[in-house]
Amino acid sequence: PAAAGDTDTIAAIVTGSAQGAVSIIRVSGEAAVPIAQQVFTPQSAAATRRRRAESTAAGERAAWQPESHKVYYGSALDAEGAVLDEVLLLAMLAPRSYTSEDVVELHTHGGGVSAARVLQRCLEAGARLAQPGEFTLRAFLNGRLDLAQAESVAQLIDARTVAAADSALAGLAGGVGQIVQAMRRECLDLLVEMDVRIDFDEDLPPLDVPALVQRIQALSQQLAAALDTARQGQLLRSGLQVALVGRPNVGKSSLLNALSGTERAIVTAIAGTTRDIVEAGVVIGGVPITLLDTAGMRESSDMVEKIGVERSVAAARQADMVMLVVDAAAGWGPEDAEIAQQMFTSSSSGPAAWSSDWSSSSSDEEASSGSTSSGSKEHANGSGGGKRGAPALLVLNKVDLAQHAEQQQQQQQQQDGSSLQQSAHRCAAQQFGVPAAVANQFAAVVSTSAATREGLEALQQALAPGGVSWAVNERQGEALIRAKEALERVQSSISDELPVDFWTIDLRAAVLALGEVSGEDVTEELLDSIFSRFCIGK
Ligand code: GDP
Ligand code: ZN
Repeated sequence: PAAAGDTDTIAAIVTGSAQGAVSIIRVSGEAAVPIAQQVFTPQSAAATRRRRAESTAAGERAAWQPESHKVYYGSALDAEGAVLDEVLLLAMLAPRSYTSEDVVELHTHGGGVSAARVLQRCLEAGARLAQPGEFTLRAFLNGRLDLAQAESVAQLIDARTVAAADSALAGLAGGVGQIVQAMRRECLDLLVEMDVRIDFDEDLPPLDVPALVQRIQALSQQLAAALDTARQGQLLRSGLQVALVGRPNVGKSSLLNALSGTERAIVTAIAGTTRDIVEAGVVIGGVPITLLDTAGMRESSDMVEKIGVERSVAAARQADMVMLVVDAAAGWGPEDAEIAQQMFTSSSSGPAAWSSDWSSSSSDEEASSGSTSSGSKEHANGSGGGKRGAPALLVLNKVDLAQHAEQQQQQQQQQDGSSLQQSAHRCAAQQFGVPAAVANQFAAVVSTSAATREGLEALQQALAPGGVSWAVNERQGEALIRAKEALERVQSSISDELPVDFWTIDLRAAVLALGEVSGEDVTEELLDSIFSRFCIGK
């Protein structure tokens, strides 16, 4: 594994393994330039003339000195001076490089043989083959990236969606690391204030305990906000499954078709046409979204109808988000109520009910189940236990058929689009007969017409997981939860009026956990486990 403090010069092919027109060999370290001088000879007119004049090519090559951030055209040579490939050389001298060390890149032809031979030549000339992630590890060790930024590099490389890439870029810009560093500094400040009281108790004014508690609470809130990004990060990476549920004929298939612009789902005026689950892929806000049109819910007998409803709801439980579609013209009916009730009731078979809140973090339950030592910790957002945390949307479809006055009001509200308007939407839902208690369980209420395409933009906005910003990854989330738990223990030590020594023990634990995220408190094993997941050449 790549040892911290290693100062060898490292080299690797940094371009992908697939056949391409160009491959890049990156060399980083103190010997990067001397290695380049051995491997590369520039092909400038002057150099050619001089080479003709002097036969001591080796001596001349040693005299060539690359300037930083300048591209040279020339040849890569083997030890005997035979040409291996025509190459471009780019030198990025310390500290203005990815690793903060001297970096030289050789751009060779093609994917396979040329690049391998030039790399081999660099190794012969004194470089060592880089470990996975070792360039980025050096960038971290040399202080050019904090640990969270380094992890964003890996996330950027792995990004499968535009939104995931944007999120990784936001992380690379310093989002997670900077916030966590600031929280860690605040914890250290608090720690100092407490520590001096332990050592020089008599000489100092007493601790302002209410102020301390306030600062700790503020920290806990910041931690909770950072943790809330975890769920979104997961969605950005994997895409989102959205199930449409609702009684027959409300326009589920029509909405799926309108959103995806295809004719995948069969639309008829006869209830119960959509028998199997139909999928359609759309991209909203850079996130790939799979829409699932669930089975029709009414067949010939009540018994089957009940099974249909259950099956639909069961399918919805597998999704990341569920859209309950109702017929705005027909109004809220007992069938709608039954589906809504099933949606929001935990079932023994499913992972539980839906949430009215986008921000509740599902990673909380995963991560906290790994650290249950402290027992009764409640990471849920408090709005009833056991929520899976995925949001539900209420879609009032067929507004074109609904009353004219109401329709106008809807349009007005959709144009404004702000979250303040959500309460207005809930009012609209109530006008259609949806009980307030039911409407409030949804993250958003949107009025649409699959026929006129009215409200579809608002629906897309409600489906998209919000503005893309940095998101904590699993490892960071786990550490942040430990920090949050430690701060909770500090608060209970304070309220239990335990001696200050007890406060500082847990505050120290919080500092350590935060340092694991920013990279200010990391062990070599942790670095190994993070950077070994990188690809070679990054
Ligand atoms: P599903 O059973 O929920 O999938 O409903 P469908 O999409 O099959 O639609 C049932 C009927 O309602 C069809 O005749 C559609 O053309 C019609 N429909 C769907 N959405 C709208 C809408 O927004 N406005 C109007 N006027 N008709 C709609
Ligand atoms: Zn349908």
